[in-house]
Amino acid sequence: MDLVPFGHSSPGESTNISDSESEDETKLPLNQFYPYIRCALCCGFLIDATTVTECLHSFCKSCIVKHFFSSNRCPTCSTVVHQTQPLYNIRPDRKLQDIVYKMVPFLEELEREEMYNFYTDRGLEVPKSVFVTSPPAAKKQRKDTAPQSASSIPAELDVSLLLEFVGAEDGISDYKPLDRPYVRVSGEATVRHVELFIRKKMQLGPTCQVDVVCGDHLLDRYQSLKEVQNFVGQEALQDGLLVLHFGLVLPAED
Ligand SMILES: [Zn+2]
Ligand SMILES: [Zn+2]
Repeated sequence: MDLVPFGHSSPGESTNISDSESEDETKLPLNQFYPYIRCALCCGFLIDATTVTECLHSFCKSCIVKHFFSSNRCPTCSTVVHQTQPLYNIRPDRKLQDIVYKMVPFLEELEREEMYNFYTDRGLEVPKSVFVTSPPAAKKQRKDTAPQSASSIPAELDVSLLLEFVGAEDGISDYKPLDRPYVRVSGEATVRHVELFIRKKMQLGPTCQVDVVCGDHLLDRYQSLKEVQNFVGQEALQDGLLVLHFGLVLPAED
């Protein structure tokens, strides 16, 4: 099977991209694949494709995480994903995401560019992960003024966290409760630091993984809390506290 490039929907017409190898194979227009590469929640092409392990339906990571804040059923087939913690039964689907990127040219590049602009518009340092393939070096500009915190709390401890435990995956049982959910830290601290803090306080074993969510965003370890706060915005804050939900999961078999 050969895929017709995006925006090219006439099966008979010859193209200089794909006609050399498969004259006798049927060419299918991209929109025939839409049910498999689009997210039923936002109707866009999948971003961070994430699959429900119970029924194998896939959605954007941010879309499905948000959905599970108000429901424990799959949006497509209504299967109960997990009685109480549906987030434990979703897995990143890198193969599917690769397919989406291959079928929809420029999507990956666009997404990268959006992320790049997101950071530079705010005068933030662009994380290395944004530059996996082609850094838009020409656009790089130095901003000398970092965004100033509006609060008057000393700069080194300028973020107040509320850490809310949402539960542990089946099979994880030996942990101590987190007795103080309120923590004041530097905005320069990263999600990784929060994770280490939780690990230490809850005495977690090395096989247990900590997933940290803010609003509807599953956070990456390299993100600083300042970035998280700027990125998620007002919905992340509750009485001036940055609210992070975290759960304990077993590492995905990959
Ligand atoms: Zn989506
Ligand atoms: Zn489903």
